[in-house]
Amino acid sequence: MHLYQKPNGSWVAVVQHDGQRRKITAKTKRAAQFAAAQALIELGDRPPTDPTIEELLALWFDAADLSITYRTDAGRVAEKLPATFTARPLSAVTPLVIAALYKTLERDGWTVHRIRRAHTVLSSAYSFAMSMEITDRNPFAAARKPAPPGRKVQPPTREQVGRLLAADGKLGLFLTVAATIGARRGETVALQWADVQPEGIVIRRSLSYAPGHGVVATAGKTGSKGWRTVAIDPTLIAELRAERARQIAETVAMDGSGIPLWIFSDDAGQTPWRPDHPSRLFRQLRDRLGTSILIITHDLGVIADVADRVVVMYAGRVVESADVDQLFAGPQHHYTAGLLSASPTPGRHAGTERLKEIPGLVPVLRTQPDACTFADRCPAADAQCREKAPPLAASGQPPSESGRQALSPEVVARIR
Ligand code: SF4
Repeated sequence: MHLYQKPNGSWVAVVQHDGQRRKITAKTKRAAQFAAAQALIELGDRPPTDPTIEELLALWFDAADLSITYRTDAGRVAEKLPATFTARPLSAVTPLVIAALYKTLERDGWTVHRIRRAHTVLSSAYSFAMSMEITDRNPFAAARKPAPPGRKVQPPTREQVGRLLAADGKLGLFLTVAATIGARRGETVALQWADVQPEGIVIRRSLSYAPGHGVVATAGKTGSKGWRTVAIDPTLIAELRAERARQIAETVAMDGSGIPLWIFSDDAGQTPWRPDHPSRLFRQLRDRLGTSILIITHDLGVIADVADRVVVMYAGRVVESADVDQLFAGPQHHYTAGLLSASPTPGRHAGTERLKEIPGLVPVLRTQPDACTFADRCPAADAQCREKAPPLAASGQPPSESGRQALSPEVVARIR
């Protein structure tokens, strides 16, 4: 399948089979891929009935809408899998085969973390095969994933929190600014000194890292004016003034110019932090302090960078909990899927494709209703959901046993 985007933002997919060719144009990449897959079937190119693991992985990488980072990492895991395993047809993979595979990988020197990653990648590939109706079961859902190495978790002491905020110069200031103005990390690293105004901080741009292009600036998540202003208190203004004075002194010492531009920068305001820089600092601190970090955020980019485990909450209730890779590869709750659709992905939302919004409003929660609190905004809500919220399903249980309605491919196509 050849897929490309036209200057007007629409996507074109070209498919060929048996000397026949079809060209499909659609508004979104996902819609073009979906229509192309249908066209291939119409042309007689049906997916193999019982492909090998290797064929499935190739098909998954080719046809699924995976981010570049995810695809690269999953590709690295896939290419290191033993050929004796990847040559098996899907129907010949059982939990026993999976247990034997993990033993082999362990013997070959794979770390527990890497084996857990392989589990997630293979499970996601099987989920894709199920959505394409190539198979009707996912043996990885029933297999035991190796437990992460045991680690004692303790709440941080006051000193640790103090060290956390004071460490690496500006991480504390970054957190204070981000929490005060409620901006995404891309918007926070994109702040320039000119954006600090007497009436507050003006958010007008966002930085993101696009592989192959480096750091690129796009419009922030702004209002109709093209920017938004958030008021800040005098203590924060004083902290920012002190940081600016420090940067000016540093630039004067360096080249005498004394004109810093970016607030969050390691070279006295000359170059902005990369958007993933704060996450990197978090990870370094976590390892250095030997602590865990609990992050409460709407910023899925931060979650993807830092978290091992994610708990998604909506209207005060836990609606989904999963390993970070599993959550991004196959969200199970409609709110999680909506959040993912509302997040920009480099390349996918490069100013051409509008982000999807979750329609409606968060309910007013004076009382906790029995119904699913997401029902008024959910594309799959039915009478049952409005009567009683289904319980959380245990991982791997099919929807009919769990009571939770899983996302059908049609719903996924509609909300993405
Ligand atoms: S319980 Fe029903 S309304 Fe709530 S998220 Fe699931 S499908 Fe949607």
